[in-house]
Amino acid sequence: MPKRVQKPPRHWRKEIDFVLISQEQIARRVRSLARQIEKDFAGRDLVVVALLNGTVVFLADLLRQLSLPLRLDFIGVSSYGGGTESAELVFTKELRLDVSGRDVLVVDDILDTGKTLAQVRAKLQKLRPRRMRICVLLDKPSRRVESINAHYVGFEIPNQFVVGYGLDYAERYRNLPFVGVLHPAMYKNPDFIPLLSLKKRSLLLGARTATAPGSAAPRPSASP
Ligand code: 5GP
Ligand code: MG
Repeated sequence: MPKRVQKPPRHWRKEIDFVLISQEQIARRVRSLARQIEKDFAGRDLVVVALLNGTVVFLADLLRQLSLPLRLDFIGVSSYGGGTESAELVFTKELRLDVSGRDVLVVDDILDTGKTLAQVRAKLQKLRPRRMRICVLLDKPSRRVESINAHYVGFEIPNQFVVGYGLDYAERYRNLPFVGVLHPAMYKNPDFIPLLSLKKRSLLLGARTATAPGSAAPRPSASP
């Protein structure tokens, strides 16, 4: 991994502290994840189940790299309900396709405490798929609370609040083509604070803001 901190494009510099994972690194890693998935699901009746909304960019790139027959469906999850970080998830969109007896690949943006994917896994397990595997773009293993791991991980990252490539801060920045660390000044922006979920607020409070060169280098995760 390069030790130098990569600056974001000029027009993002006030809001994004630095680029954690570049567009090129992501594209390379997505291709290699797709090769592994193709090998593992060859000849199977594959249903890709993606979690809304954070996966959309990653999913669109990953799907187009997969030369496999597959079907696609979505589950909507939100952690807005309840009022605390550990509140039950609210399902905002239910699965439509029948996954019973089929091979399921769950795709999510980031595995953090694992609460989201643990609940989604339990919900899908009741539908009796033949096999279920989990694929995430990012993994923050240091924050894990639930005993859950992904079979396919794009990058392991430290405990920092990241945005871009589908990930948001107050619904902004999903369109960045790279994964970046939000500028600490943005945490205090009064326009955005009221728009944050409790989950995001607590993430920001706990995230490391140190930006020493090399301290935040992500690493492509090992194969499953
Ligand atoms: P978990 O249930 O594993 O704690 O949380 C997963 C969800 O938390 C992710 O799908 C994402 O919505 C949110 N999340 C966790 N870490 C980050 C982060 O660094 N940045 C952003 N934008 N969202 C995060
Ligand atoms: Mg999510």
